Amino acid sequence: MEVVPRPAAPVRAVRVATDRASLAAIRATLPSPVGLVPTMGALHPGHLALIDRARRECASVVVSIFVNPMQFGPGEDYERYPRDLEADLQACEASGVDLVFAPDLGSMYPPGHTTAVEPGPPGAVLEGAARPGHFRGVATVVTILCGLVRPDLAYFGQKDGQQVAVVERVVRDLGLPVGLVVVPTVRDPDGLALSSRNAYLTPEERAAAPALHRALRAAAEGYGRGERDAERLRSLMRQVVAEVPLARPDYVSVADRSTLEELATVDRPALLSLAVRFPSARLIDCWPIG
Ligand code: AMP
Repeated sequence: MEVVPRPAAPVRAVRVATDRASLAAIRATLPSPVGLVPTMGALHPGHLALIDRARRECASVVVSIFVNPMQFGPGEDYERYPRDLEADLQACEASGVDLVFAPDLGSMYPPGHTTAVEPGPPGAVLEGAARPGHFRGVATVVTILCGLVRPDLAYFGQKDGQQVAVVERVVRDLGLPVGLVVVPTVRDPDGLALSSRNAYLTPEERAAAPALHRALRAAAEGYGRGERDAERLRSLMRQVVAEVPLARPDYVSVADRSTLEELATVDRPALLSLAVRFPSARLIDCWPIG
């Protein structure tokens, strides 16, 4: 009988841990400071900007890849969320990542797991109102990751501005010993913020999607001209989205950047944000002002 050799597993410089014990063993060998980049995979240049920043600032870079079921609601896209671990590992290797933590479900939430982190009001509005329980899932998974990886610094994208506010609050309220670094949003040349969910868009929707960025820019320019009335800034955003036939606005917001409370007057650091439904995908974007 002919023996067909099994193809050798690819030899990688990047180490991969899929459970808590192997993570702890490799973590113990990593030089400090350690930077953590939490992701759900399907890595694109937005994620790579976080990794590059961590590479510049830290002696070791850990990327986690975990599609976290706790932050998806019933009927959301958990099952169809894009997953491509092989391509992600190649991208991590090319970016000089030291360790990828790609746990299975039982390693993140061991049998009997009952604990959750409830972020309260900043997680209840905007995305939290549209997606109940979303930020409870985010806060819980980030807390577990910080406990397991024990990073000195953790890197998050400005693209998810409410996530930044929620995680900052969790770190402060729970006294987690980690510094947060926020990295500017990476956009396609037409302004669309890169997102794994852009893959859901039809060509027609993709052509319409830069409306989110145009809306934010219109409001940011209004602010730049001296407009401080938050409702006028919201209406600048609404006008842009209303001109796009495929787009249905979910919310437009001008809120305090840390509490996410809607403002009447922009008299402190604020976040312009919006969510728009296209037939195939719901997109979000945001822009800090002030
Ligand atoms: P995700 O895999 O979508 O959970 O994203 C992982 C991290 O990458 C989060 O901190 C996101 O805010 C960040 N991120 C995603 N897209 C972008 C982007 N276009 N620019 C900058 N950061 C991003």
